[in-house]
Amino acid sequence: MKIAFIGLGNMGGGMAANLVKAGHAVHAFDLSADALTAAEAKGCTTFTDASEACDGVDAVVSMLPNGGIVKSVYTGSVIGHAPEGAVLIDCSTIDVATAREVSEAAAAKGYAMVDAPVSGGIAAAEGGTLTFMVGGTKEGFKASEPVLSAMGKAVIHAGDAGNGQAAKICNNMLLAVQMIGTAEAFAMAEKLGLDPQTFYDISSVSSGQCWSMTSYCPVPGVGPKSPADNDYRGGFATALMLKDLKLAMEAAETAGVDTRIGTKAKELYEAFDAAGSGSRDFSAIITEY
Ligand code: NAD
Repeated sequence: MKIAFIGLGNMGGGMAANLVKAGHAVHAFDLSADALTAAEAKGCTTFTDASEACDGVDAVVSMLPNGGIVKSVYTGSVIGHAPEGAVLIDCSTIDVATAREVSEAAAAKGYAMVDAPVSGGIAAAEGGTLTFMVGGTKEGFKASEPVLSAMGKAVIHAGDAGNGQAAKICNNMLLAVQMIGTAEAFAMAEKLGLDPQTFYDISSVSSGQCWSMTSYCPVPGVGPKSPADNDYRGGFATALMLKDLKLAMEAAETAGVDTRIGTKAKELYEAFDAAGSGSRDFSAIITEY
């Protein structure tokens, strides 16, 4: 397939490279000259104009910073420029309302568009092991699946337009709450005289067990290797977790949902970020305890 890829940053760079590896011809566009040079080295053809990158393609994939940018790129350079049969796939994490608005604008011009945010960070983007949560029509999902499969290990249809974003923010709100809970439990166990490894051995096979403990333990030297073992470098940055929590709180307000623990998690990550920890892995919140 011929695929336009817009936004070749930390995540998009690895994703586009996996499309090339799968045998697709990738038309790359990014505002950053460095990102384009890196994409060219990975086998993409580069363009200096997004609408030109969309000429004659079968699919458009984007991985951009926020909803405002996604909206301006799609309404300005993709819709009306990509061929009508092309499937439009936005993999960025953005607000549910904008995802639905852009998808409607695309549908009005005859395109199938899906929102397909990811679970997994830069390593998963490079390794092709992302999980995609896809919102859109059945036809849109079917058309996007072969493209997404080349970049991930799981592609799941979450329902109509915007539902991919809804799944992503609900998942990440739960993750934030779970990580803070895990950090508090380890801190309290230690203060009460329990060795962290002993607490792990007990809780990891008891009812407190969760992903933040057994797959991503915030305590260095305990559990499988995680960013805690690398001074909280790499992994999923606090600033990105905070971005997702803000999107979750926005959606909760619009939908009138009581998310009092999610709100508290957002406040804690906000304070952690403001204290200069935005680039540290989100599990470093344990150092606040
Ligand atoms: P990034 O800042 O590294 O990359 C974004 C890229 O978009 C940059 O190269 C930038 O130059 C480009 N860009 C910005 N405006 C543009 C425009 N108008 N036209 C073309 N290109 C433009 O960010 P990232 O870490 O790759 O994240 C991208 C998206 O993926 C975000 O929505 C983020 O929330 C989501 N995400 C990131 C991670 C992660 O671990 N980094 C994990 C899951 C999801």
